[in-house]
Amino acid sequence: MSGFTLNIHGARGSVPVSGPEYHKYGGGTTCFEIEIAEDRRFVIDAGTGMLRIKDSLPDDRPIHFSVVLTHLHWDHCLALPFFGPLFDPRNRFDFYGRAVGGMDIEEAIDRVMRPPWFPVNFRSTAADKRFHHFEPYMTFPIGDEFEIHPILLHHPDGVTGYRIRHNGATLVVATDVEHGVPESDAALRELARGADALIYDAQYVPDQYEAQKVGWGHSTWQQGVKLAEAAGVGQLILTSHDPARTDDEVDEIVRHAQAIFPDTIAAAEGTSIRVG
Ligand SMILES: [Zn+2]
Repeated sequence: MSGFTLNIHGARGSVPVSGPEYHKYGGGTTCFEIEIAEDRRFVIDAGTGMLRIKDSLPDDRPIHFSVVLTHLHWDHCLALPFFGPLFDPRNRFDFYGRAVGGMDIEEAIDRVMRPPWFPVNFRSTAADKRFHHFEPYMTFPIGDEFEIHPILLHHPDGVTGYRIRHNGATLVVATDVEHGVPESDAALRELARGADALIYDAQYVPDQYEAQKVGWGHSTWQQGVKLAEAAGVGQLILTSHDPARTDDEVDEIVRHAQAIFPDTIAAAEGTSIRVG
């Protein structure tokens, strides 16, 4: 059977939240996983939602993680200091990302994961860690299972958008991203063309964006719908929910989006969907 299962571990933007008003879509920040095997994990972003993965790991054998990072804003790597498997010498982690601010991924994370901000340096964690840096627009493989095409998108400090091909299906990841810069918009439209699923940053609602949030680095469901239609994607997955957005409000966003693009859902923590 072609296609794959996408596990949604975290879909909140900016900062984790908790409370009864967030039960349906969850409070953990960005983390998605393409399911392969119990001891072989493919993870997109290391937001606090990644901590959920610990519950499904075997403890009797080594685990090999591939972690693809869109960017290094806090909400996309905050799970790492608290992710137990990183402290286990049997495990291997391959991190993929773009060098930013003159730093490679290892240095950038190590600068914030160290005393006095955290008791342990990232570099000194026990797992075997390897780092893979790439240039945007250069397709690369991960094992013989994944083909990855990265591009640069518009977001403060830059963000990588990914087109990920696995087992005959295609997922495009575009979080975080702000629309309105023609080169970035056109590149994303091309990246998403014909994809089975598109994960898109819908942190703001259109009125809120226009009134207060231009230049903050995020987009809206309305732009997601336009992009999904223009690129002919199979399914639109809205994510990066605003920290203040309640479940009822996310439901309302989905209703608006579905009226125009019926195959729209909002990413919900702890759920899985089939891609392809
Ligand atoms: Zn960001």
